[in-house]
Amino acid sequence: MPVPNSQSTQKLPLRGNFCVDPNFQFLKMVNLLNLDRQGLASFFAELGDKPFRATQVMQWIHQQGVLDFDAMTNLSKALRQRLKEITCVSLPQVQTIQASSDGTRKWLLQVDSGNSIEMVFIPEDDRGTLCVSSQVGCALDCRFCATAQQGFNRNLTVAEIIGQLWLAEHTLRTEGYRVDKCSQAISNVVMMGMGEPLTNFNNVVKAMNIMMDDFAYGLSWRRITLSTVGIVPALARLREQCPVNIAVSLHAPTDALRDQLVPINKKYPLPELLAACHAYAKGKPSRHITFEYVMLKDINDSPTHARCLAKLLQDIPAKVNLIPFNPFPYTHYQRATPEAIDSFRDILMQARLVTVTRKTRGDDIEAACGQLAGKVHDRTHRQNHVNVKESYT
Ligand code: SF4
Repeated sequence: MPVPNSQSTQKLPLRGNFCVDPNFQFLKMVNLLNLDRQGLASFFAELGDKPFRATQVMQWIHQQGVLDFDAMTNLSKALRQRLKEITCVSLPQVQTIQASSDGTRKWLLQVDSGNSIEMVFIPEDDRGTLCVSSQVGCALDCRFCATAQQGFNRNLTVAEIIGQLWLAEHTLRTEGYRVDKCSQAISNVVMMGMGEPLTNFNNVVKAMNIMMDDFAYGLSWRRITLSTVGIVPALARLREQCPVNIAVSLHAPTDALRDQLVPINKKYPLPELLAACHAYAKGKPSRHITFEYVMLKDINDSPTHARCLAKLLQDIPAKVNLIPFNPFPYTHYQRATPEAIDSFRDILMQARLVTVTRKTRGDDIEAACGQLAGKVHDRTHRQNHVNVKESYT
């Protein structure tokens, strides 16, 4: 939904690096969705305007859902004209929307000419949760994950991440959907869609800061959960810069099994990962860490695995989410039986671990956990990305 620009670039006053490409050949529109409040304040300062314009524009775009600069009536006419000339508000394009019989909704969103991502809305009695993607595909190759089968293309920009929340919030609000006693449609965000958020650290943190900004969506950190396989150095940075809740995709209680299911475990084995989780949980405010454990038949679902997991987590303020595996085409894994899941849960609870079996939502539209695939056309970047990630970490 870009705001079109048809102005000539010749007469525009160009300031800083916001508007011009490195060769000064052509005007690049600044997508305002890429900027958090601080970025917007710098942008307006470069335009020679007041920093408080940042809060005004944020409120229009994110709180009110207004994309038409002419409707931003507390901005001067001259500023509105300037914004039309050099900026845009460009969102991912909706390709399809699927609705599940349980109310879950899945959007396929086009982010460029070759690639699409998926986001999922899960309504419950007291909350509306949006599952947001952070990358086109994923480079980490977890064996039980549909996204991994698609390969990896690129990181999403801040605009493409926050644009998912914008689309869901304002679409649902327009339809009249509201969470109880709340003016918003989305009360919770889980960074659990396509991709490993911590390998797109800067863009994800900036987008989460916009989610938490009182002039945008005003979500408390308690209502944002970032799911990670455990990129250990990035966990420490996250604790410093944007300490939201985390859910660690564990899936195995031993290094030998986790090496097979979650290959990044070879780089960050369980002792390192659990030490990082300990550190994340400490401090103010202290918090529980959620551990996700996908239940795979005859792979990781035995009572022995459960006892081993209980021992592994005994010293951590942990909550365990057991996720019945959601099959996708061509996988050879199967969902653990309900009896195996129940007895696994009972063993963990006897060890005083808070344990919840996640309800499967949206599996009739392949929107359940681990089933998101989107359309990832370029599959050649996985190794490049892993190399970049290695140097980053
Ligand atoms: S489980 Fe998460 S990190 Fe692993 S491949 Fe899937 S999207 Fe990537």
